[in-house]
Amino acid sequence: MPVPALEVRDLTVGYGDRSVLRGLSMKVEPGQLVALIGANGAGKTTLLRSVSGLLRPAGGTILLDGVPLQGQPPHRVVESGFVQSPEGKQLFPGMSIRENLLVGAHNRRARAGREQTMAEVFALFPILQERQRLVASTLSGGQQQMLAVGRALMAKPRVLALDEPSLGLAPIMVERLFEAIRRIRDLGVTVLVIEQNVLQVLQMADYGYVLERGVISLQASGPQLLANPCLRSTYLGL
Ligand code: ATP
Repeated sequence: MPVPALEVRDLTVGYGDRSVLRGLSMKVEPGQLVALIGANGAGKTTLLRSVSGLLRPAGGTILLDGVPLQGQPPHRVVESGFVQSPEGKQLFPGMSIRENLLVGAHNRRARAGREQTMAEVFALFPILQERQRLVASTLSGGQQQMLAVGRALMAKPRVLALDEPSLGLAPIMVERLFEAIRRIRDLGVTVLVIEQNVLQVLQMADYGYVLERGVISLQASGPQLLANPCLRSTYLGL
């Protein structure tokens, strides 16, 4: 077996006295597209923020390509290759699309090749190339999400984490975005995606995890999860 691109072992994280993740373990194999689903408040964002170095876990291990990550400041985590596109996008609305993309290529590893990377991002999202000189606030919600994903790609991730990329998007934009996420995986980037859009994300995922009350309650391939009666009733209302 190859070393997992990302492995979390027995992770415990809380806010003050309140524990949110209670011994969570999961793996993301290299080159796979992995979905993490779970109800609101289950702790999905808390997991990403812990891996990103924004929260300090109380216990457990986080390994990126087999190398321990926890305790590293967020910029080091990005340099190591774990890059997150946060929920809510967090773009700079008054800066141009091109400038927003360049912000993503700030780390040392990404800076040298940034024009090449930008060409790859433009190939994935041609609208960003067409509008590159315009300020980000002129983009529609779906286009802004593309920009947020593009900016994360500019950091040259080995593991790209997306926090609810389809949130608030019209169905046609969700479809386009998911198609781009599939292509990103096919380009060799390992992808971990948090989604409320359970049916669509599991249709494209190689593997999926269900997070409930701070632990993984179910894990299997995308098709197996979609066939699971428990998952179908709880998350698909079927
Ligand atoms: P959502 O889909 O709503 O984003 P989630 O699964 O990502 O849900 P988290 O955002 O990780 O869930 O939140 C898990 C729990 O931790 C929630 O009950 C939330 O209220 C609590 N929580 C999140 N951030 C903080 C914080 N900064 N301080 C205190 N509690 C927090």
